[in-house]
Amino acid sequence: MMLQPPKGGAVSARLDEDEQALRPGTDEVPAAADSLIVREQAATIAHYRKMYERSSMLARLGVWECDLVTGKLTWTDGVYDLFELPRGSPVRRSDILQMYHDESREEMERLRAEAIAGGGSFSLDIRIRTARGNDRWLRLTADVEQEGGRPVRIFGIKQDVTEARAAQERVKALQAELIQMARKSAMGTMAATLAHELNQPLAAISNYVAGSRHALDAEPARKEVLARGLDAIEESALRAGGVIRSLRRLAEGSPAVRQPVDSKRLIEDAAAVALAAREGVALELRLVDRLILSVDPVQFHHVVHNLIRNSAEAFAGGPGRIVVATAAIDGFAEIRVEDDGPGIPRERLPTLFETFTSTKADGMGVGLAICRTVVEAHGGRITAGIRRDGGAVFRVVLPLAARLGPRADRD
Ligand code: ADP
Repeated sequence: MMLQPPKGGAVSARLDEDEQALRPGTDEVPAAADSLIVREQAATIAHYRKMYERSSMLARLGVWECDLVTGKLTWTDGVYDLFELPRGSPVRRSDILQMYHDESREEMERLRAEAIAGGGSFSLDIRIRTARGNDRWLRLTADVEQEGGRPVRIFGIKQDVTEARAAQERVKALQAELIQMARKSAMGTMAATLAHELNQPLAAISNYVAGSRHALDAEPARKEVLARGLDAIEESALRAGGVIRSLRRLAEGSPAVRQPVDSKRLIEDAAAVALAAREGVALELRLVDRLILSVDPVQFHHVVHNLIRNSAEAFAGGPGRIVVATAAIDGFAEIRVEDDGPGIPRERLPTLFETFTSTKADGMGVGLAICRTVVEAHGGRITAGIRRDGGAVFRVVLPLAARLGPRADRD
């Protein structure tokens, strides 16, 4: 009898040794040796089978095969367990497909047909309802086998990925919640900027409306005053629209639309809003005159407002001192916002401007990320550092808009 060594390293190596030891120079195997080999093979097979069953159970997977000629399905116990069907019971493909959710069934059939037509493998996650009515996600991986160029069999595995899918869903929900919260936080500071910026044109509109009404009530009606009032109302309404457009551009990440802006006025305004109702905070402004920036005023108000408010928040309700200084250096404008608060740990500096880096209980860590977006959209740079006394310093450097007057120099 010819021995056919089975495939697989461990078993075939042992057979080779046995062959040489037991039957030198002959093709015949003595009966005792034959039965020893058969026993060893049986033990190895039983061992492998046990290992397979344990790993299938641990990985919650099963192996299946579908004969494409007869349509016969063969399942390991693992697949029966996944579908919660009695092990070994006859299975028909049409019955099993009824246990798939509709979209899963359609997608699987499409991929299966493609793989059969073109040869090859496919993989997808399917949702099923088991025989006991439990919903499960299974990862199905399959390979079409060919003989003589024709597809004859599909071999595959199915693995329970219900928990992994549920974890994925939870992470997705958390991410969505986080993004929602970040949006709210970003919208909070934007709303403060919006409210401040809209205040002025809206107050102006209301004054001009009152004036125009008087002009209309006068006997005879004062047409030229009325016309001037209407012009002024139109101008203020356009300004209010501009404010809204500017913030919308910021939210959409569109390029900033710039105009000459007096840095001193912009900083004074932003500081007043950021420090309104904050007691114990001393503010020192060291602002050079006629330092004209070429910026989107609303967006830059937002930047300065954010930096000053962050300094004030760093004092955590205690007293503190903030210095805002400007300077013109080699064709660039510099705005520095520094404070004598607790400062920023050195290791946090490299990631400070990334989103979601907050040390505050109610902070979302988007303020500085927005500041960086705005500054860089204006061709500038923003950096953070630590003062010698440990406080924080933020520095914004921007190309200057126009030639400076004689007093615009480093303070
Ligand atoms: P948020 O204010 O929501 O935390 P920011 O992006 O504005 O978001 O700030 C991110 C973090 O940077 C803050 O949580 C804080 O830890 C730190 N930070 C910013 N400015 C200062 C400052 N002046 N002093 C100390 N830490 C600061």
